Amino acid sequence: MTNIAEFRNASGQIDWEALHRAEIEAGECCNLCRGVIFPPRGRSSLCNLCRLIREEEGKVDHRNRLRCPKCRHDWAVEAEDNGELYSEGSHEVCCPVCDHEFEVVTAVSYSWESPGLVVREGDDNAQGQHGPKPVG
Ligand SMILES: [Zn+2]
Ligand SMILES: [Zn+2]
Repeated sequence: MTNIAEFRNASGQIDWEALHRAEIEAGECCNLCRGVIFPPRGRSSLCNLCRLIREEEGKVDHRNRLRCPKCRHDWAVEAEDNGELYSEGSHEVCCPVCDHEFEVVTAVSYSWESPGLVVREGDDNAQGQHGPKPVG
């Protein structure tokens, strides 16, 4: 595995660019989208999603790339390009290479973070009063 400590410079800062390059070389991160590859492949590789977007002839889902159905060009979705692409539903996009217009469908997923458990005061006292039951 890539050791993050090897990428600290003299002032203790991490050289992220060099770290990412090493992770890509080691096949730990996809050389196209930088998604994590597990298990690592030991050489520069594509993650499963990127392999699909390059090879699959049917519909493909990718968490951050689009593919033109006409010329097969694929590119990363950038929030600043078209914020509308981040809302649920179908959107028209235009291929930056061949100008072909096509429709993509955005699926938004959500998760909710709940706070950690509250330690209830008084529980210890209640237990102390009753005490453990004698065995036998
Ligand atoms: Zn990838
Ligand atoms: Zn195209």
